[in-house]
Amino acid sequence: MTRTGLTLLLTLAFALPANAEPTLSIRDDVTQGAMVRGQTSATATVTMNGRSLPVSESGAFVFAVARAYEGDVTVIATDADGSSASLKLPVTDRAFDVQRIDGLPQDKVTPPKTKEVQDRIWRDVTQIRKARGVESGRIDFTEAFIWPVDGIVTGVFGSQRILNGTPKSPHSGLDIAGDTGTPVNAPAGGVVTLWHPDMYYTGGTLVVDHGHGISSTFIHLSDTLVKEGDVVKQGQPIAKVGATGRATGPHLHWSMNWDEVRIDPQLLLPDRDEPKEAE
Ligand SMILES: [Zn+2]
Repeated sequence: MTRTGLTLLLTLAFALPANAEPTLSIRDDVTQGAMVRGQTSATATVTMNGRSLPVSESGAFVFAVARAYEGDVTVIATDADGSSASLKLPVTDRAFDVQRIDGLPQDKVTPPKTKEVQDRIWRDVTQIRKARGVESGRIDFTEAFIWPVDGIVTGVFGSQRILNGTPKSPHSGLDIAGDTGTPVNAPAGGVVTLWHPDMYYTGGTLVVDHGHGISSTFIHLSDTLVKEGDVVKQGQPIAKVGATGRATGPHLHWSMNWDEVRIDPQLLLPDRDEPKEAE
């Protein structure tokens, strides 16, 4: 055999391995409340527990694990030739803070609301759901997220109160202290899918789509610096901290979602020295 012939044979053997598996890797810790990013071959399709996930041209995909999820998550990547790679990922449990308060007057547990207020809340929820339900091909979620405000953390994701035996909704995001007017910087890039200055519970409400069903919702804002349809870059000031809606004082409440699954934003943020509480 000639040298050229041998080289050709070897090249073919390495270039066309029979049924090569697609690459498959996971970038984030798989824990309750986590957004989990993965990477596969650009030509592969991906499922998570049987649900098919969008895969970007660069092979990026994402899903989230609900706060109360227990067990494993199975991710399978399949190439056009049918070869596949799979990962069985055990989900790490977390201990969320649960507080029981009994003996409250019942109207503090379930405050009575007029039909008008109930209708308004329903309209608010519908608009927020629609803004979060955008399924764009953006891949801003692949960025390393940054803190939107520098204040101290005053409320963590997933904490829950049980009032007179009635479990209230777990805290859906991260609360960061800040004076009214403090700029809120985009923690990652995206496109603005909702601005509403005055929702019943959430007051000034801004939703940013980061792609593949991942969104950020910022609430209690005093103002916005962007409008619906604007593309924003990471670090860009997009809004101002406030105490609008049902807030006890000025702070940023930042929620993240994968469609309707709640994500803990703090899991995506770099550790930092906790700023000192103002005297
Ligand atoms: Zn909050």
